[in-house]
Amino acid sequence: MKYSFNNLKEELENNNFNFKKKYGQNFIIDKNIINNIVEKSNVDKNTLVIEIGPGAGALTNILGEKAQNVIAYEIDKSLKPILEKNIHSNTKIIYDDFLKRNIKEDIKEYKYEKLYIIANLPYYITTPIIMKIINDKIPASKIIVMVQKEVGDRFKAKPGTKEYNSLTIFLNYYFNVNKIMDVSRNVFMPKPNVDSIVVSFTKKDKIFKVKNEQLFFKLVRDSFKQKRKTLKNNLKGYDLSKIEEILNKNNLDLSVRAETLSIETFIEIANNLDK
Ligand code: SAM
Repeated sequence: MKYSFNNLKEELENNNFNFKKKYGQNFIIDKNIINNIVEKSNVDKNTLVIEIGPGAGALTNILGEKAQNVIAYEIDKSLKPILEKNIHSNTKIIYDDFLKRNIKEDIKEYKYEKLYIIANLPYYITTPIIMKIINDKIPASKIIVMVQKEVGDRFKAKPGTKEYNSLTIFLNYYFNVNKIMDVSRNVFMPKPNVDSIVVSFTKKDKIFKVKNEQLFFKLVRDSFKQKRKTLKNNLKGYDLSKIEEILNKNNLDLSVRAETLSIETFIEIANNLDK
């Protein structure tokens, strides 16, 4: 059956589709928003796109038109009858939990020039998904995701603000982060309680000079372990004199909280600890 965006609502109703809150199922029902996201992402026939959570296939359909191939991970098998009507032959749906997959293995058979990740994310697992993309070193040069507005604000947060956290640092370590657009809660079915934002992450060319990435990541995670606590309390197992040396150089001391430190200061500390 030919895909018709206007009938998406009808299709979901005809199939008696039961929206599952536990999977963060809020589907976009406004074609302009979808077109806008795809247009701004510059997907072309040399692009392999990974989509997380295709839902009823609204975004998947347009991505399939523009991309070389699309691989989409959907946890809810009950979407199959609706979703498979809406996709193109260059699209493969993997009915599984994205968080449990070996993505590099899944994309091995594809030849592509560019790999993009594009998704309207299930909001209950936004951070685990982003951390998986980072930790698994999925070789995507661009990531475009729709997230809850409040979470999106954290991605670009500046040191010293309450939105600034370890995720901000990990993201800005690898990527240039940019807002693409705001999205009203009214374009979703069912309507969520929050507005959304679309953000893009583009791989940074010049990466910071971190000697030991593992140590850097651990230091950042530990520093933010208990947000209200000072560095002195959060970093008990570390060589505090080496940390203090760098803090003092930056006119800070161990009584500050992690949210005060810039990414560069964290790097300086990690490098000093690795000496
Ligand atoms: N892309 C669709 C759209 O924009 O209309 C649906 C987006 S909806 C916010 C999130 C989708 O992610 C749902 O279809 C949900 O079933 C799926 N999902 C939730 N958890 C998942 C997981 N762990 N792995 C893969 N898909 C998941």
